[in-house]
Amino acid sequence: MMDYEAFFADALDKLKAEGNYRVFAELERHAGDFPHATSYDGENTDRITVWCSNDYLGMGQHPDVLAAMTQAVQTAGAGAGGTRNISGTTHYHVLLEDELARLHGKEAALLFTSGYVANEAALSTLAARMPGCVLLSDELNHASMIAGIRHSGAEKRIFRHNDPADLERHLKEIEPGRPKIVVFESVYSMDGDIAPIGRFCDLADRYGAITYLDEVHAVGMYGAHGAGVAERDGAMDRVTLIQGTLAKAFGVIGGYIAASAKLVDFVRSHASGFIFTSALPPSIAAGALASVRHVRAFGQPDRDRHQERAATLKRLLTEAGLPVMPSVSHIVPVMVGDAALCKQVSDELMTRHRIYVQPINYPTVPRGTERLRFTPTPFHSDDDMDRLVAALKDVFSRHRIRCAA
Ligand SMILES: *Cc1c(COP(=O)(O)O)cnc(C)c1O
Repeated sequence: MMDYEAFFADALDKLKAEGNYRVFAELERHAGDFPHATSYDGENTDRITVWCSNDYLGMGQHPDVLAAMTQAVQTAGAGAGGTRNISGTTHYHVLLEDELARLHGKEAALLFTSGYVANEAALSTLAARMPGCVLLSDELNHASMIAGIRHSGAEKRIFRHNDPADLERHLKEIEPGRPKIVVFESVYSMDGDIAPIGRFCDLADRYGAITYLDEVHAVGMYGAHGAGVAERDGAMDRVTLIQGTLAKAFGVIGGYIAASAKLVDFVRSHASGFIFTSALPPSIAAGALASVRHVRAFGQPDRDRHQERAATLKRLLTEAGLPVMPSVSHIVPVMVGDAALCKQVSDELMTRHRIYVQPINYPTVPRGTERLRFTPTPFHSDDDMDRLVAALKDVFSRHRIRCAA
């Protein structure tokens, strides 16, 4: 008979042998003192600097957000009490969806419990319910989009990363009358490169496709109102559907789509991952609303400072001869190229230097391209950066990791 426990143990041992076993750092972030945190190791605690948070703008500690959440808990209680259809739609949810629609210049928006769920639910619903639909998906798309694509059961074609010529080659081969969805991200969060949104929209127009854009790593941070790269590039009205998260630059939790009223109503009416799950708590909707409002109206100084911090870190790493990867965004990846070594470097940064950066290993990135991924925020000081660079030089030279200079 099957020995289940032995099976699980073997699988875990295999991950450990490859260096791909994940160990979570146990942290307590301190509102008002980002990016610093307390790290817990059993009885022991340490004050550390977090260098890999996706709370890119520190909105998770913003006083407006904390006040809105606290107030909503006091007035509306803890949970929503049901699915959106069964008493879970509060005034806060409606206000937040209105705000998100306005942010993206779309007629409507729809909330989900996370960005992952938004992608899985919206993509699977759209592609499964349009007869004969074909999905054209960038080869580096996020796991949540891949899940939605798979779940739809629709035909899919994978085009080369950020490559309009390869996308066109696929589009040409599909019968003109079939529904087609071009699925891609704006900022790719592991390499920090950015999609040619306008060129993808040109192709979608030419071949009668719609576009599905994941702006999870761009909302809050790009464009005059923080609506994302599509806003920055003047392409927001050309993209059919924009998907985003409330959990990264907006600092809270939840995901959404924004699109035409009819498309959004279609997803609202058919998506299992929207219909059959309880609504986000009102306090979450209230906090996210405060965050989006702030970032939209007053976020430009933070966006400027965020870009400046990322540029400064890239420059400092380059000057130190560290193998920083080319990135045109706020993401600062540093190549290690080996899973076990990547984990070792991350561990030593923590134990020797109290610096926390997560190793990024397979399957998040291809084998042989294991890396550290730094996400400087407006709250990382020059001093934090100097200490980081010195720590990296120490750990990289101890392990003789290839450096530029
Ligand atoms: C994090 C992420 C998501 C999922 O968003 P959550 O709100 O964290 O569930 C979706 N797409 C991309 C590209 C992401 O990196």
